[in-house]
Amino acid sequence: MLYGAIEAGGTKMVLAICDENCNILEQQSLPTLTPDETMPLMIDFFKGKGIAALGVGSFGPLDLNENSPTFGYITSTPKLPWRDYPLIPELEKALGVKCVLDTDVNAAALCEAKMGAARGLKNCVYLTIGTGIGAGVYCEGKLVHGGLHPEWGHMPLHVRADDPMPQGMCPYHGACLEGLASGPAIEKRWGVSAKELSPDHPAWELEAYYLAQVCAIALTTLATEKIILGGGVMSQTHLFPMIRKKTAELLNGYLQSPNALNLDDTIVPPQCFPVSGLIGSLLLAME
Ligand code: ADP
Ligand code: ZN
Repeated sequence: MLYGAIEAGGTKMVLAICDENCNILEQQSLPTLTPDETMPLMIDFFKGKGIAALGVGSFGPLDLNENSPTFGYITSTPKLPWRDYPLIPELEKALGVKCVLDTDVNAAALCEAKMGAARGLKNCVYLTIGTGIGAGVYCEGKLVHGGLHPEWGHMPLHVRADDPMPQGMCPYHGACLEGLASGPAIEKRWGVSAKELSPDHPAWELEAYYLAQVCAIALTTLATEKIILGGGVMSQTHLFPMIRKKTAELLNGYLQSPNALNLDDTIVPPQCFPVSGLIGSLLLAME
């Protein structure tokens, strides 16, 4: 049996056809232009290939409420050509197969839970810290949606008094997680691209302070078993020990569960990078 997968990103769409063992048989990458330009190319890629279902892990926000008249739409995205776009209805109409949508980060969380860093566990959180910040939440063996889907990038955080950019830069909230700790926030605060900051620059200690708050929140709210940190910013691997140390300081010995006590094993990089979003989308189709 063949399945299709789309990892729909703001800059590129990654398309794949896979077998039921998650082997990628065919793969293509397209720039994300307007729906008029990009959709026909995506449809051409899958058409006539005999896929049984298509999974889509997409940038958002998305309407994932089955009872909503705009179910399967990309909704209030800042990527204007895709705002209020009926992505899943259009794909289903063109391809005539069931298409399953979730966030790119929920797809990545599913992939890491089934075959990566959280393999065998029923609980994990997958965060990407890049141009934006997003989190996928896998809880008791299921992806979490609630009334929409998690939007951890916009959680309010405690701003440190010595932050040279305490106002943050999120257009909606200023100093939310994304407004304080995304790649662009690091660049704006320090006047140089995050890629170019040396490992001993104070930027990283402050970044670890913010990401540790998120880890402490994940452990105190969900008692999650793995916190998987990916995205461009986390290619600075020296952040991991700093984040673990600060998380332990924030928790201050209160949580006595194995996942909270052994943060070296709990706060980890992804194992399926760079295909966690794509393979996660495939798993959505297979489920
Ligand atoms: P996107 O979020 O756009 O899908 P990435 O996860 O690669 O893509 O995130 C891009 C952001 O991550 C940029 O803001 C960039 O500053 C930052 N980034 C990319 N590579 C690195 C690196 N090696 N070190 C630090 N920051 C990086
Ligand atoms: Zn925000």
